Amino acid sequence: MIQITHKRSDCIGCYACVEHAPSYWKIDEDGMASLLEVTHRHDQMEFGKGYDADRDELEQSVENCPVHIISIS
Ligand code: SF4
Repeated sequence: MIQITHKRSDCIGCYACVEHAPSYWKIDEDGMASLLEVTHRHDQMEFGKGYDADRDELEQSVENCPVHIISIS
């Protein structure tokens, strides 16, 4: 599994992650992105898991986030 980390407090709501990995991201009513499935939260961070088969689209969401708040490992 892929570990996904998102510093939601710094999101600018640009939709890039949603466009590149729509099965992992959504835009909430406050205009900021969230993972569709959050495994846990800590401080201002969201954490989730991704399938290895989805690595390409998750990497696209990392590379296209203009404020660099998504990471995968
Ligand atoms: S790409 Fe980054 S800044 Fe844009 S909506 Fe997604 S998490 Fe927020």
